[in-house]
Formats: sequence, C-alpha cells, structure tokens
Amino acid sequence: MNPFEYNANPGRVVFGPGSIQKLPAEIQRLGLKSPLLLSTPQQVSQAEALADILGGASIKPAGTYTNATMHTPSQITEEAMEYLQQNAADCVVSIGGGSTIGLGKAISIRTGLPHICIPTTYAGSEMTPILGETQDGRKTTRSDPKILPGTVIYDVELTMTLPPALSATSGVNAIAHAVESLYASNTNPVIRMFALEGTGALAKSLPVIVNSPSDKDARTQAQYGAWLCGVTLGSSAMALHHKLCHTLGGSFNLPHAETHTIVLPHALSFNAPAIPNQMADLATTLPESDGDAIHGLNVLLGKLKVKRALKDFGMKEEDIDKATDIAMSAQYPNPRKLEKEKIRELIRRCWAGEPAK
Ligand code: NAD
Repeated sequence: MNPFEYNANPGRVVFGPGSIQKLPAEIQRLGLKSPLLLSTPQQVSQAEALADILGGASIKPAGTYTNATMHTPSQITEEAMEYLQQNAADCVVSIGGGSTIGLGKAISIRTGLPHICIPTTYAGSEMTPILGETQDGRKTTRSDPKILPGTVIYDVELTMTLPPALSATSGVNAIAHAVESLYASNTNPVIRMFALEGTGALAKSLPVIVNSPSDKDARTQAQYGAWLCGVTLGSSAMALHHKLCHTLGGSFNLPHAETHTIVLPHALSFNAPAIPNQMADLATTLPESDGDAIHGLNVLLGKLKVKRALKDFGMKEEDIDKATDIAMSAQYPNPRKLEKEKIRELIRRCWAGEPAK
C-alpha cells in the first residue's frame, strides 16, 4: 500500500425515509430560527412542503427564493443576495439538486450563514467543499472547507419524483465522481472503498429505477450510492473527465448530468492504458462487465436508455475545436498525458455519439 493522507470532511448526515420531518429539529439543534429556503422553479412545491413542516414546529422561514439555475450563474446569485437582504435569515436550506445546492453554497460562502442541504438528485454536491460558478459563459470552480454544507438530510421520498431519465443520468454523474477518485492524484484506500461501494450500489439500482421509478428499495440504494460517490468527489482531485464536463457544461450550456453520462466512457477509455488496476477494480462493481469496465459501463448505459451524443443537446460540430482548446488549458492532474489531437477526437466522438471502445 502506498503512503497517503486522508482528510475526512466534516458534515452531518441524516439518512432515511421521512427524514425531512427532522428539519425543524436540525434547525433548533443549531440554535437557528429563520431559514431562507431555496429551490428551482420546478421544485417550488417541495419548498412549500418544507415551509409547512417548519410551520408545524413554529419556525417561520425568512423567505423562499425559487429561481436557482444550473451552473450557478452569477446574476442569479446576485438576485438571491438582494432577496436575502430584504428578508433577513440566519441560515439557508437548499432543497433540490446540484443547482439549488450550488446557490446555497454561493450564498453561504458570501455571508457565512450555515447551510442545510436536502438533496433530491444523485449529483453529490452536498458532500463537497466545491463551488462552480458561471460568469459570461465561463465556469470557474473553487474549493474551500467553508463551502461544505453543515447538515445533509437524505430523504428517499423526495427522490421518488425524479424522472427516470434524469435518475439515470444523475446516477451516472455520481458514478463518474467515484471513477475519477480511483485514479485521483490524492486517492487513498478509504476513498477507494467509498468509490467501489457507491458505484456498485448505483450500478445495481439504476436499471431497476429506470423500469420501476417508484421502487423505494432501489431508490434508497441509489441515494446511498450517491452519498458515497459524493464523498469521493469532495475528498479527491478530479481529472480529465470532470475537466471535460466543466468545459462543455459551462461553455456550451449543456445539461450537467447528461454531459457526464456521455463523456464518462470516453474519458475512462482514454485513461485506461494508464490505470490497469483501477479498471480491474471498477469492473468488479459493474454487472455483466466480463472483467472489462468499459464494456460494463456500456452495458449499464444501454440498460439506462440514455442519450449518447452531445449534438442531441445542441452542441454544434464547430464547437469541438473551441472545447478542445479549453480542455487543454488549465489542465487538471490526469493519469495519462493529454495530447490535443486525441482529446479532440474524444470530444468529437462524444459529440457524434459514437460508442467508447
Ligand atoms: P439540477 O439541480 O439542475 O436539477 C435538474 C432538474 O431536475 C431541475 O429542474 C430540478 O428542479 C429538477 N429536480 C431535481 N430533483 C428533482 C426531483 N426529486 N423531482 C423532480 N424534479 C427534480 O441537476 P443536478 O444534476 O443535480 O445538478 C447540476 C448542477 O450541480 C450543475 O450546475 C453542476 O455543476 C452542479 N454540481 C456541483 C457539484 C459540486 O460539488 N460543486 C457536484 C455535482 C453537481
């Protein structure tokens, strides 16, 4: 075993069906009384349900801001900050996926307010001290322990409405975190354990969810897997795959989870020659892999019936060169050296939807 350093991220997790009912107790435990609730426009009803639960415990939210947007655009954060100034709050509660949690992080790091997260997708942002923000079409990412939310409440009931297609891609987004943590420059045996357990839980449960979205056992397994994969994202340095997804998502406004799903097999296939042990480990977690992680991933994506081409999400062929240039700039540490022509071909295959080999 190689020497390593391991930093456990602080953070409290409350896991289980119906655990959203424990939000008032969490707020009281922290000595707080006036939360600002955050959601996207699509999840206003879940934010309203939260306000009702709080009302039942005589906690009156300072307000509800419902305009959270993917990739945390700076103008939305400014708008939310203005709303906060008019509605004094002593903490933020984000209910939603990575978009809403991103806004919660952006407000929390600007104001120092405690942040309680109630995740409803599998993206994993709640487990990370990372914040990606977009300004003028460029996404920049920063990491700071103060960005990590203090409490995370995982309630499977809130994920039951996540549409099957988004459940599938969001789950693959989580797997992507675990995959890259296996070969991260600062990986370690503890993270490997989280990564393999998380990937296995998701690889088994996601195909069940796609066919039976109301299967609560499968949903619980997926949420558990997403939590573990989120830990890997928050504790290790991400590589080529995440760099490509940030580039493509932020610069061409491509949907986050779907982009991860398309890019993952290609990024993994590029890195495969440099990471034989990690490929073998990963294959053990993917059903029907026959010992080949790329094959196992392709089988999984086939079962999930996901789209495989970035052009299906509006990326133009002429964007391939620009995406290549951005991907080659400010590179993340990666197990295999990046060569411009190979990265261009990788992005072209993602754009065209050609399978990874
Ligand atoms: P999202 O939060 O944008 O959600 C996608 C859509 O699904 C939204 O309309 C949302 O309201 C809806 N939705 C979410 N949960 C639902 C549910 N249970 N039922 C019905 N609808 C639901 O998607 P995401 O993939 O979770 O997050 C993507 C964003 O998060 C990106 O901006 C990405 O960069 C960021 N992210 C950040 C980190 C990090 O560590 N900083 C990690 C992962 C993702």
